[in-house]
Amino acid sequence: MKTSKRVSSRFISAERAAEMIGEKGLAHCLRSIATYIEQDFCRWQDFDKSARVANHSQDGVIELMPISDEVSYSFKYVNGHPKNHRYNLPTVMAFGVLADVDTGVPTLISELTLTTALRTAAMSAVAARALARPDSRRMALIGNGAQSEFQALAFHHLLGIQEFHLFDTDPAATAKLMHNLSQQGIVAKRFASTREAVCGCDIVTTVTADKTNATILSPDMIEPGMHLNAVGGDCPGKTELHRGVLEMGRVFVEYEPQTRAEGEIQQMPAEFAVTELWQVLTSHREGRRDASEVTVFDSVGFALEDFSALRFMDDLACELGAEERISLIPELPNPKNLFGFLLDHPAQAKPQANTRTSACVA
Ligand code: NAD
Repeated sequence: MKTSKRVSSRFISAERAAEMIGEKGLAHCLRSIATYIEQDFCRWQDFDKSARVANHSQDGVIELMPISDEVSYSFKYVNGHPKNHRYNLPTVMAFGVLADVDTGVPTLISELTLTTALRTAAMSAVAARALARPDSRRMALIGNGAQSEFQALAFHHLLGIQEFHLFDTDPAATAKLMHNLSQQGIVAKRFASTREAVCGCDIVTTVTADKTNATILSPDMIEPGMHLNAVGGDCPGKTELHRGVLEMGRVFVEYEPQTRAEGEIQQMPAEFAVTELWQVLTSHREGRRDASEVTVFDSVGFALEDFSALRFMDDLACELGAEERISLIPELPNPKNLFGFLLDHPAQAKPQANTRTSACVA
């Protein structure tokens, strides 16, 4: 006997995602996404993994990030266009899909711009919990754009970071970050340069956007025991750390084949040793060895983090009864009669008017 499966997909808009995060609280969502990420990284071997597919253009990149286990498949569409502010658009925009591996039905289509900021921050916190000194209290945040509040709040709530030192080449970005953090009860200090901001910090997060081999951190700025959370360098020709910084300590990555092409280590020879983070999380490899070691998390963003974040958003929508659904796939009484669907949905009579609206023409 045949059983019918639902073909409509749960839909989470950007507005609904924000409402759901507001309802549960940002700290709760960051903690939960971190837990989902840790769970999925600890079953690393279950996943069919690949480096993302990137289409580069002069000012940016558009990427597809697929991954699956035996039950679910996910992909994220994401861009990186540092000059997008010219058009009043964010540098990073994304959406994603969760699908049922048994049938291929897309079960969830969700915004992922906001969710990417949460998952990137949660991933940074997961890495720092394994690699930073446990007594870390002060973090420098270099790059105060769209991702920065999420980074600060993840480190505050998940690691107990109390003091934030800020620097951005755009003073308005720093003013925005200070304002948003003060609304969350967090006091931050602004500095006139990266060098001044990182001085005396336990953790340094770099989350700048520029499609170039930048030197945000040079070896002379690094102090013994620092943990570096390098988030902004995430595609070929886009890095933030001087290569000498990478030689000062051990480097940890998400998925080595992707990070070799996209991360800070694209500057290093193929034999430069790195450790995949899942090995530390499952106790197969050592994390930080002592209080004076410099550790680097060379973050580029891996599909598994989006898989975890989509699972979390799906579960949250289910819990909160967010049952908006969209019909991406035609529902067919006879799956071999796709043509019948066309006949069942004839053209609607349109009001008499111009054939093209101004929106279409634009
Ligand atoms: P954004 O454009 O909103 O903010 C970037 C900020 O960096 C801007 O305020 C800019 O003025 C500042 N900046 C640029 N050059 C600088 C410099 N030399 N010194 C100090 N500040 C500088 O971008 P965003 O959405 O916050 O993303 C930041 C970066 O993080 C991007 O490169 C993006 O691709 C990357 N990113 C990585 C991941 C990941 O998983 N690793 C995820 C999301 C975003």
